[in-house]
Amino acid sequence: AAARVLVVGGGFGGATAARYLRRIAPQLQVTLIEPARRFYTCPFSNLYLAGLRSWESLGHDYDGLRAAGVEVIHERAEDVDAAARTLRLAGGQLLRWDRLVLSPGIDLRWNALDGYDAAAAELAPHAWKAGAQTLLLRRQMQAMRDGGTFVMVIPDNPFRCPPGPYERAAMVAHYFKRYKPRSKILLLDAKENFSKKALFLQGWKALYGEMIEWLGLSRDGQAVRVDAQALEVETVFGARHRADVLNVIPPQKAGFIAERAGVTDGSGWAPVKGENFESQRVAGIHVLGDASFAGPMPKSGFAANNQGKLAAAAIAAELAGLEPPTASYANTCYSLIGPGYGISVAGVYRAQQGRLIDMPHSVGISPLDADAAFRAAEASHGAAWYAAISADIWD
Ligand code: FAD
Repeated sequence: AAARVLVVGGGFGGATAARYLRRIAPQLQVTLIEPARRFYTCPFSNLYLAGLRSWESLGHDYDGLRAAGVEVIHERAEDVDAAARTLRLAGGQLLRWDRLVLSPGIDLRWNALDGYDAAAAELAPHAWKAGAQTLLLRRQMQAMRDGGTFVMVIPDNPFRCPPGPYERAAMVAHYFKRYKPRSKILLLDAKENFSKKALFLQGWKALYGEMIEWLGLSRDGQAVRVDAQALEVETVFGARHRADVLNVIPPQKAGFIAERAGVTDGSGWAPVKGENFESQRVAGIHVLGDASFAGPMPKSGFAANNQGKLAAAAIAAELAGLEPPTASYANTCYSLIGPGYGISVAGVYRAQQGRLIDMPHSVGISPLDADAAFRAAEASHGAAWYAAISADIWD
């Protein structure tokens, strides 16, 4: 019988791996497990909050993957037996695998921030998984009075999409500038440094003046308690901040199925081998995307897509008894600060004795003080990236 590869999660990492496995090795039986019939991307969901993208433009279905020969089952994976090489679906069905690929994304660590649990998220949305939470946050922004305060709580590293909170601040500011210009945005951050910091600070100021205030660790930015009913946040040194809209991005961990499979460690993430993203803990299971701990590679959709292709090539080679390919990876994170104002950071990584390292001299970041044409070009590169990666994965 043909070897069977099961892939859990039809997002950036999983859908890519499923599609490329079929492309590289059409003889493989590839099954993708994903509960949602339509996947809404986190990338560009900040633009939706700004009113710059429609919600439906962020949705992708699985017809393209089916047409590529991937069997798609819309169910939740519930448990993994690594010794028996089986996976159990929520409906009870047991599926056998020769290789298992997990790309379940993140789960939120409820109560890691005192008072912030699933019920609190219905009042103070995280909107860190695209869907009902994103729509709720947008409705709250629309209902807010002019002159209100939007407070965002930002976690320490590592977390999904390092530049995401700061792009979101800019996109909320874009919306406020147009419709509620007396409003304020307060960012309470658990750390002192963040991705593209100098570029964000410069861009915020250029486009939104004093609207966005960022408080890092040294200025008592670290939140320790959330009162979602009162829309209040308390910091380490006891300051209380009252919000009109409260967006809490809590600490995170790998999606629960990774824990069930035994691939996570005490950090909550799954350490992987740099060569092929196979788990360091359980043979035959590969972990992609945000759920993995991949050294210097950030938790981004770009990275997950790249890892999906590499893992697919490695798995196909191993199952065919061939030498696996040499691993090198790339990432670019585009962020939009305003219409026609984009910035980016890029990196290249390679495997070295099981670990992932930065390729020397590979980091590329947008220059400070670039002219308007440069920022406009980067904004259009970002939009082109979204169209290209969506087509690569789902169309
Ligand atoms: P996901 O894409 O989240 O896919 C996980 C899938 O697994 C989900 O569909 C889920 O339903 C499914 N799943 C989970 N558990 C199970 C289970 N037990 N059984 C079956 N299915 C399961 N990245 C960029 O590169 N560029 C950007 O501009 C960008 N912007 C972002 C903006 C925001 C606001 C946020 C929050 C993130 C952004 N990201 C961006 C990051 C990007 O969304 C993630 O890094 C990416 O989605 C990770 O891919 P993944 O495959 O690990 O997880």
